[in-house]
Amino acid sequence: MAKYEPVIGLEVHVQLLTATKAFCGCKNQFGSAPNTNICPVCLGLPGALPVLNAKAVEFATLASLAINCQVRERSIFARKNYFYPDLPKGYQISQFDKPIAEHGFIEVPTADGSTKRIGITRLHLEEDAGKSLHEGFADAASKTAIDLNRTGVPLAEIVSEPDMRSPAEAYEYLTRLKEIILYTGVSDCNMEEGSLRCDANISVRPRGQKEFGTKTEVKNVNSFRFVKQALEYEIERHIEILESGGKITQESRLYNAHEGKTNGMRSKEQAHDYRYFPEPDLLPLVVDEKWQAAIRASLPELPEARRQRMMKEYGITAGDAHTLTLTRALADQFESAARTARNPRRIANLVQSELLGRLKAHGLELEQSPISMTGVTASADLVESGAISGKMLKDLYDLCFERSHDFPAVYEEQGRPEQSRDTSALEKLADELIADNPKQVEQYRAGKKTMIAFFVGRVMKASKGQANPQLVNEVLSRKLEGH
Ligand SMILES: [Zn+2]
Repeated sequence: MAKYEPVIGLEVHVQLLTATKAFCGCKNQFGSAPNTNICPVCLGLPGALPVLNAKAVEFATLASLAINCQVRERSIFARKNYFYPDLPKGYQISQFDKPIAEHGFIEVPTADGSTKRIGITRLHLEEDAGKSLHEGFADAASKTAIDLNRTGVPLAEIVSEPDMRSPAEAYEYLTRLKEIILYTGVSDCNMEEGSLRCDANISVRPRGQKEFGTKTEVKNVNSFRFVKQALEYEIERHIEILESGGKITQESRLYNAHEGKTNGMRSKEQAHDYRYFPEPDLLPLVVDEKWQAAIRASLPELPEARRQRMMKEYGITAGDAHTLTLTRALADQFESAARTARNPRRIANLVQSELLGRLKAHGLELEQSPISMTGVTASADLVESGAISGKMLKDLYDLCFERSHDFPAVYEEQGRPEQSRDTSALEKLADELIADNPKQVEQYRAGKKTMIAFFVGRVMKASKGQANPQLVNEVLSRKLEGH
């Protein structure tokens, strides 16, 4: 590893969340009965003509702007010719030398805490192919079934520059890219359903060498963790071959997650094998300045910018901001709560320590939470004012999840519980502690005021965390001062 440097580039396919397909009116819907969302256009029957879906263009443009690409005012659709059972019309409508957008980048965090800019070569718009099904049928051993519902679904293909130098960087790039695309709302990026798919190009070269080594491509890996593992495996494989005097074969490979290794598929087609030519049935695509400006105006605040702003605005940590921006919905909900809460930092803590953990334990998504953000705010304010203790809040949250009721409802149901302000028990405890620890009392009275923490700690421990810290402080300082 010390001798060689990996060079990684990624191709990511993202299905766009349009209501209909890219060039016909068929539904773009995952999970329909096989071969029900099809028509002469997406099947490529003779005489059928494609009509471009404006929403697909808008979504591809929005994604392009979010990853800092320059949008081309005039782009060209091209036919990519190949036959495959799941592409019966014999070609895919794609874009070739004039894609809709180019020259973008995203920033990814690196191990040393700085950021690195990963270039994006291009984003182009194309249609998806159908799906071959090899299992789940009685005769699956001898036959392959074809589902063409996916044929013609709009895809954005995002091609990175070969700028990544480790599997960890590739993982970060994918994580950031997915996060950005999710924020724009143009795709659900659901890898299990195939709406985000990734191919990874990898080569190694001796450190210091400028030319790239021969690359292999790992196709269709279905999780970011597997991409990282597949790249780690490939890097080792390349180095072993080179060290033993062999040559790398340029080819496509598949990652087998069970075995933790890649296997060769077929030699990589060269670009000219696809015999690209301009699609004769479609006009050049024009996204003029006015349209671009309208789309740019709908660009939401992106995750990294939002994290920076939230840290400043609410005084939360980078870690808090990271968790709270995991999805746009969570960030929106947090902010609506934080704006009205007495202490936004407490909201951040409660969401992370009390809410997300319980949601996970109950297998619930944020949208299914029994406690709304209004509920979180109400509970945070009660703790803030000293009306309830942290321990009481935990118990009330447990009841919310048990009963599937929101916090304000459970708080009412429980008769608006309040932590005790009766100081007699506290005073007795304080007197005992003061009698038992003369040395500490002496230090306190000699001016070492921080010694109060010692006593507060003892009282909190004795009350099993139930005592109101503010009250404990009041009583103790009064007693220690000798009143
Ligand atoms: Zn169709």
